[in-house]
Amino acid sequence: MSPYIHDATAQTEATAHPPFRVAIVGGGIGGLAAALFLHHFCGPNVVIDVYEQAPEYKEVGAGLGLGVNATKLLHRIGVGDACNAIAGDRNGVYFTIRRWDNGAEATTISARDEGRVRFVAMARAQFLEVLLGFIKERSAARLHTRKKCRGIRDLGKGGGVRIDFEDKTFSDADLVIGCDGIHSAVRRQFVRDESLYSGKIAYRGLVPISALPKPWPLPSYAAMWVGPDKHLLTYPIGRTADGKENRSLNVVACTSKREEDVPPESWSSTCDRADVQADFGDCEPLVQTIISLMPDHPSKWRVNDREPLPQWTFLKGKVVLLGDAAHPMVPHQSAGAGQAVEDAYILAKALTEYLTRRPTTPSPSATRSTLSRIARFKTKPRKSATEPDLQQWMHLYQAVRFPRAQQVQQSSREAGELFEMQAPQMVGKTYEECLPILAESVSERMKRLWFEDIDVAYEKTRADIIMMPPVVKKENGISRVLDWCFCM
Ligand SMILES: Cc1cc2nc3c(=O)[nH]c(=O)nc-3n(C[C@H](O)[C@H](O)[C@H](O)COP(=O)(O)OP(=O)(O)OC[C@H]3O[C@@H](n4cnc5c(N)ncnc54)[C@H](O)[C@@H]3O)c2cc1C
Repeated sequence: MSPYIHDATAQTEATAHPPFRVAIVGGGIGGLAAALFLHHFCGPNVVIDVYEQAPEYKEVGAGLGLGVNATKLLHRIGVGDACNAIAGDRNGVYFTIRRWDNGAEATTISARDEGRVRFVAMARAQFLEVLLGFIKERSAARLHTRKKCRGIRDLGKGGGVRIDFEDKTFSDADLVIGCDGIHSAVRRQFVRDESLYSGKIAYRGLVPISALPKPWPLPSYAAMWVGPDKHLLTYPIGRTADGKENRSLNVVACTSKREEDVPPESWSSTCDRADVQADFGDCEPLVQTIISLMPDHPSKWRVNDREPLPQWTFLKGKVVLLGDAAHPMVPHQSAGAGQAVEDAYILAKALTEYLTRRPTTPSPSATRSTLSRIARFKTKPRKSATEPDLQQWMHLYQAVRFPRAQQVQQSSREAGELFEMQAPQMVGKTYEECLPILAESVSERMKRLWFEDIDVAYEKTRADIIMMPPVVKKENGISRVLDWCFCM
């Protein structure tokens, strides 16, 4: 891992306050990315604890792709090159899209990833190791395991919040970030909704690249075969020991199924390879070869998401949601992890601004270590200022992120329909008529996903709303912050 020097200008000044306590619930991709962005931007003004329910920090599943929208942010905090080092090489191709029955090319979409900031496809476990490595190297956060959050309590004015864990311990924080995935316990405390079956299942498995036919007949290992009610995609992840070759082909085979025919939701459910062969038996010979090289028992996964949730901040901004906890999405655009990275970046920006605005006059509660830190940073305490409103800054985070995440949730669903010739604009058309619709639409939506400038969105939204107090309404004695749109 390359040495990395902090961008000190990105950090807030050390203040006379005791460090702001951030508790991250969930140590997956979103949680660990949040720890790194917060540490980078907020520096010594925050202490960060990550609470993961599992006995170790580990990712389930095989591959994961991150578009340049996310990797450019990882480069800003010095993590991007390490991702490039573990990514498969797709030869500049995002996906070459092929007919399911004869393999003819429908369209090939460029990854538009020349240079250091690239689309990266990685083994999930390796990516998590990279994030963990940086957290440890930079002492960015304290990492806890076997800490399953079961609820959150408000400790009242000025008192932060308390996280209660299943093991009957608890921990207090000024801000809790719920990064605990699609079945988030943090979300469940504030929102009553169910995960929704998308109508599709996915078979997944890895194939060694060395076992594939040579020469490989496509311009890239990143390929997708599309047919009525099914699509199968492959992309390379991981590098051989000398770093010269791709190591594994990640295979995700999706097909539409009635809900009563699919297993209950689980990351760990598997099937026989014969099930994949039965569902994809009408695909061209290269697909048959790939499936025959999948493990004997590929994983079989029910693809779920939830309806968009317009409120991600609770308890006066002391609790926020991030990643799949806020906006779980189906995987057809390879976008979920990238959206979690974008969340982490914007949340860190907003929190930095909040912390910078706290008055720096030493308070009676300022600790000795904080004061010595001020001396070290040579910051001059400002005369006076009013305490900024955490809720307002957390609303900024939500207001920037919600429209984009909601749009990506929606377009991920639509992508699944397009790949299987089920989109509304394809109804009544032949397969041949559908292909150009697919080609144009995919290219357009990837452009929107990869190239939208979230810094511009941040500045614009900040200018629009930050001076306006959030609208609070009492319902049955409970204060609820109304949708941020009301503030605009
Ligand atoms: C098959 C598949 C393929 C995908 N492919 C891509 C892709 O190519 N590109 C992409 O960008 N996205 C992809 N995604 C989506 C992506 O994986 C998710 O969006 C991303 O992992 C979300 O990260 P997260 O940290 O929010 O949640 P998760 O990754 O679900 O992490 C949640 C963490 O919280 C922990 N946790 C849960 N409950 C508690 C609790 N009560 N207390 C403490 N800890 C808890 C869990 O153990 C876990 O470690 C894919 C998803 C799937 C399922």
